[in-house]
Amino acid sequence: MDIIHDNAADLSVLNGKTIAVLGYGAQGRAQALCMRDSGVNVIIGVRPGKSFDAATQDGFKVMSIADAVKEADIIHILLPDEMHGPVFEAEIKPNLTAGKALACSHGFAYVFKTIVPPADVDVIMVAPKGPGTEVRKVFEQGFGCPGLIAVFQDATGKAKDMALAMAKAEGLTRGGVLECTFEQETYEDLFGEQNVLCGGMVDLMKYGFETLIEAGYPAEMAYFECIHEAKLIVDLIYEGGIQKMNSVISNTAEWGEYYNGPQILTPDVKERMKESLKRIESGVFAKDWLAEANSGAKVLQAKRAELGQHPAEVVGKKIRSLFEKH
Ligand code: NDP
Ligand code: MG
Repeated sequence: MDIIHDNAADLSVLNGKTIAVLGYGAQGRAQALCMRDSGVNVIIGVRPGKSFDAATQDGFKVMSIADAVKEADIIHILLPDEMHGPVFEAEIKPNLTAGKALACSHGFAYVFKTIVPPADVDVIMVAPKGPGTEVRKVFEQGFGCPGLIAVFQDATGKAKDMALAMAKAEGLTRGGVLECTFEQETYEDLFGEQNVLCGGMVDLMKYGFETLIEAGYPAEMAYFECIHEAKLIVDLIYEGGIQKMNSVISNTAEWGEYYNGPQILTPDVKERMKESLKRIESGVFAKDWLAEANSGAKVLQAKRAELGQHPAEVVGKKIRSLFEKH
């Protein structure tokens, strides 16, 4: 894949255009602030409440979603994925006119058809590959978070140029941008978060922690070994790959990796990952998640509450407060 950098993107494509960022959460705030710092005219569309107040506080022109859609040329939807469909039907579609553009940072709504866009608008994706806090932090350091762009629908013939310009305005082309399809981004993003980054990692940490405390080891030490130190290991991999990490840990730790890793994550784990990928690609996961979201997300909320009681979370809170810089 070609990596796209600053020189391949032209910010002037956005001259005279207004971008409405809908939602002012993790991504909305970070992306809106970066684009504004790059000279783009950004307005915010959000419902009254915490986000509305935060955007006002940050000096943006803030209004209802319907008004923001009317005023903008590019409508960048940074609402929770499960809300894209209902908000699109109620507040966006009635105010959308030919030649405008819909943008997003995750293709879920289009790939799983909770939004079916009219044919006369562009549909693009500008997706930072990192949490909002990271997007903003590296932008302020003068660099950029890497990202993806994609075109779902090109009604004006300018869709890709617009996506690239937005990516540049957010600093992403400084970090490097890959062009992909909506399907690739959506399936890979869901796969990564479910199998490795969130699901996967969290369960691995919990199993490790639980095994030690059930064997009578102190919870504080188990927290350090199985959770706290994960950051140090991942930082080394981020910096220089797995071999770099292996060159820093002891020979004993490296031997343990080769000796025990394959006994813990046996090949059947990979078979289940393949099944997970199939559930994602076939739409089974999306159907299940939307059913949960549409019925009030009760299971999600129960899981959240239950996790708060897990000894790893309880002891983690205590340890982090003891080791905080004073
Ligand atoms: P957040 O949950 O952090 O923010 C959502 C925002 O939408 C909040 O400002 C919230 O306002 C607002 N909102 C929610 N429901 C409504 C509604 N019914 N009407 C109006 N406003 C509403 O979301 P994220 O920033 O995490 O995600 C946004 C998008 O970015 C998603 O598509 C996600 O997949 C994508 N993305 C997220 C990444 C991440 O790391 N978080 C990374 C890359 C992409 P209020 O305060 O009123 O609830
Ligand atoms: Mg992701």
